[in-house]
This record gives sequence, C-alpha cells and structure tokens, in this order.
Amino acid sequence: MQIRGNTLRKIINGLEAGDWSAKELVTAYANQAKEKQVVTHAFIDVHEEAALVAANESDQRRARGESRSRFDGVPIAIKDNLMVAGHRATAGSAILKDYIAPYDATVVKRLKQDGGIVLGKTNMDEFAMGSSTETSYHGPSKNPWDIERIPGGSSGGSVVAVAEGSAPAALGSDTGGSVRQPAALCGVVGLKPTYGRVSRYGLMAMASSLDQIGPVTRTVDDAALLLREIEGRDLNDSTSLEIKNEWRLPDSLSTSIKGLRIGLPKEYFVSGMEPGVETAVRATADRLTELGAELKEIELPHSKHALAVYYVLMPCEVSANLARYDGIRFGLRESGDSLEDTYCRSRGSGFGREVRRRIMIGTYALSSGYYDAYYLQAMKVRRLIANDFARAFSDVDCILTPTTPTVAWKLGEMSDDPLSMYLQDIYTVSVNVAGLPAITFPSGLSEGLPVGAQLIGRQFDEKTILGAAHTYEIAEGGFDRFLPPEIN
Ligand code: GLN
Repeated sequence: MQIRGNTLRKIINGLEAGDWSAKELVTAYANQAKEKQVVTHAFIDVHEEAALVAANESDQRRARGESRSRFDGVPIAIKDNLMVAGHRATAGSAILKDYIAPYDATVVKRLKQDGGIVLGKTNMDEFAMGSSTETSYHGPSKNPWDIERIPGGSSGGSVVAVAEGSAPAALGSDTGGSVRQPAALCGVVGLKPTYGRVSRYGLMAMASSLDQIGPVTRTVDDAALLLREIEGRDLNDSTSLEIKNEWRLPDSLSTSIKGLRIGLPKEYFVSGMEPGVETAVRATADRLTELGAELKEIELPHSKHALAVYYVLMPCEVSANLARYDGIRFGLRESGDSLEDTYCRSRGSGFGREVRRRIMIGTYALSSGYYDAYYLQAMKVRRLIANDFARAFSDVDCILTPTTPTVAWKLGEMSDDPLSMYLQDIYTVSVNVAGLPAITFPSGLSEGLPVGAQLIGRQFDEKTILGAAHTYEIAEGGFDRFLPPEIN
C-alpha cells in the first residue's frame, strides 16, 4: 500500500472504511521504517513483531465490530525516552543501552488501551539534551531533505519518521524546543502542550519544571487528534490536570481567524535570524492578515534573558534528575574499588560529554554559595518572562514568531561548539520557561530547506493556536509541498 505523505486522519478513515487493515498498515510502515533506518536513522528499534501481533488483534476486534476507538490499529512512533513495557528504553544513552522498560508511560498506556500500536522507538539526543540528535549514543539521525544535514533535536528521530513517512505520527518531548525545533527543520507540525496538559509519567525526566510530551504530525488537524488522545489528569503525575470544558479541543478545528489578534514580538525579529527564515515567517504573517487576523507589534522585554535563564534552570534540574543513574539502580555498572568509585566509573563512562557538561554546570549552580547568584536569580527572571507573556496576552490572542533562527545545518558543523548550538533554542525556550503551549508549522522554504513558524498561546488555549495554524494550512492548500524529496 501507498503510505508516503499519509495523514493520521486518512489512516483512521481508511481503517474505518475497510480500505486497509491494521496488519497492512503496520507491515507497510515497519518495512519503510527498516528500509530508511540505514539512510536517515529515525528509529533505534522497530518493534515489528509486537506491532504485528497488536495489529492482528486490532483487525479481529474491528471484524467483530468491537473497535476500541478511532486509534484502534493506528501505528505511532515513540521517542526513546518514553517507556514501552518490555522494550528497550535507552534515551539515546550508553548508560541505559540495555535497559528494558518495566511499564508503559501513561501516554503509551492510553494509546494502547485505545488500540493504538507502538511502531518502535525513535532516536534522540542523549537524555534529550541537544538540538541535532548528534549526542545520541546510537549515532545521529539525518534530515530527509538533505542527509548531510542534521534533522534538529532532541526529538530528531520522531520528526524524521513522520517527515519521511515511516510513521503517520509520533510522540516527542519538549523541554526547551525539542519537538518544535526539529519539526521546523524537517517541514512537519510539532506541538508543545501547556505544562500540565499531558502526563509525564514514564517519561525519563530531564528538567521536570519544563518537560512536556507533544505530538509530531504532518497536519495541524492530526496534532489536535493526537493531543486529545494523550491529554488529561493522571494520578501518577501530580502536575497533570483534568481538562476543563473551555480547554477542550473541538472535533473539527476552527477555519476562521477573522478578528484574531496576533502579536509579533519585536525582540524576535532582530539580527541573528537568517534572511530566508525572516522572509518566510513575514510572508506567513501577511497571509494570516489576508485571512482576517489583525497583527500587532508587541514587546516581550525580558525575552533576551530567556536563554540564560533556561541554561541555568535546566542543568540544575538535570543534575538532580540524573543522579538516579548511579550504576546501582539502573543500567550500566562499572564496578570499582568502593561504592564511590563505582558511581564515578559508571557515570563517567555511561554519560556522554554534553550530559556530563550539564550535570557539572547544574551541580555548580546549585552548590552552596552559588545557589542565590544562579538558581534563585534565574527563578526570579523566569517570573518576569512569564509576566511579559501575561501582559502581552491582554492585548493579543496569540503570538507569531519564527521557530528557529536558521534552517538545518550540516552534520558536525556545531557539534564542538555548545554555545552556538544553545543559541539555536532562542525562539523556543521562553515557551517552556513560561509553561505555555506552542505549535510549529511549515511556513516556507529557504534555500530549498523547510522553515517553521511558531504560534504561542495562552495557558491551556491550544484551541486558538491550533485553529489559527489550521486556518493557514487550509488556505495554503495543505502542507503536501513539505514532503521531502524521495531518497534511496
Ligand atoms: N535543545 C534544547 C536543549 O538542548 C532543548 C532540549 C529539549 O527540549 N529536550 O536543552
């Protein structure tokens, strides 16, 4: 069967109409995933056998008229920092290279309960730290638009799988941009939900006050479908919330933005951005005006500190969260002469350079004498950044920005230059710092490579940003032109 460019919606409709079976779907996607694995390396593991068993069960249920939900029989790719019971969960790290997940993450459990099928685990930067997938222990993924370029990160594998058509949709995690940045660089849709909308139980924690799980899809409509499937209160994650009625997404997204007030932050359209990126995003802004939106320049004066705040708070939380990988409780153990020696050897050889760098920075920033100067100070500026957004949202309904300052760069170009790599997160981190929802969608091409535009919304107002992005998508005749060229 033909699977390239298929949307989640199309797959679901086809299953319901009997155009294809779950078994046919899983077979086609698993073959594609395996075939591309050696070219673009989206997947770490393809769970072909388990997925085929699940597909047969799904087909039998459907034949009996007992389908569990519209997701029954739908294959989804899962980032490797999410638990899928009985399968390897490495988070892209040597320290967990043989670790088998003992339970399902809540998002995975919900999908499975509804008949959804895990197609496999996707490649990622080690413990989600990076913007290129180059820090993965398994080696980098490649951008399907040009395999000499990075796909972005850290959810690079999930994004490549969807962009090249090895999976109709995927889940990633976003702590500072890890769903949105790769989605932008590969020409797909990526959604970072409001902090608290989706349970993180079973997601390997990176920075707990920033982490969210989000959908990677070909269309905005698909992102809404998948979000509805995974969202909501979970007793295993005390930060997750019951979805109130006014937060709920309608089954069909809005297709009108008449009178919608969209803010353009003047701090986001300054030097450092590639001209091609600016041109594309400004053209998207113009298109939104033609469609009836009202554009307003706004100010987010503290956004210039967002990267600094993120790169203090995130490593602090990383240093605490990664303390558990001690060679005793999880994963790799390298025995030494004493307990401390065992810790040192296991962590020293199990963690890669970027992870070690962040643990050291975080431990330093939290240490006595420095805590007030770094962590506490960053927490105060975090509040100011959140206040900027709150103020802006009294004037506008959502905010449009570029998702990334550049298009995809060449593999290796920045891997020895952490600071340049961190600068790539300039437009995405504020959203996590303030706990807001944001979506990236294809905005245009620059030098033949995809550019993403980002819409940021009020807390729990995913409805508005999804509706606006969907309106744009419909007006543009869909995002089919963002299907990467076929590579063999
Ligand atoms: N690129 C960012 C970082 O390296 C974001 C990572 C993420 O969202 N997981 O921290």
